[in-house]
Amino acid sequence: MGHALHNYEGKCHQLHGHNYQLEVTIESKELDESGFVMDFGDLKKIVNTLIDEELDHHFWVYRRDPRVRALIDLGARAVGFEPTAENIVTYFATVIREALPDKITLAQIELYETSTSKAVLR
Ligand SMILES: [Zn+2]
Repeated sequence: MGHALHNYEGKCHQLHGHNYQLEVTIESKELDESGFVMDFGDLKKIVNTLIDEELDHHFWVYRRDPRVRALIDLGARAVGFEPTAENIVTYFATVIREALPDKITLAQIELYETSTSKAVLR
């Protein structure tokens, strides 16, 4: 995924991409009749749909970034927040929480921007 931060003077101000990695941890007070918190396949469907439709090979730019018009014309997606790892992981947490079955909660979600840098939401 690519992004550009407008209210920031570091390297991430420029248009660029990261090989993000997402780690999702769920929990439940009880197991289902199969002995699962949730079938990994069902969780992967939720997470992979999010990744395929919104993250993989996409470019995010804050809608208040002065470059947004030109970037939208090139196929970028305008979002309502600076696309920092912290804001992206918060957005993903919201989408995943809404998609999880009632008795299952999102315990933790981690978004690695690099192998040594990540944002964690618990
Ligand atoms: Zn960056």
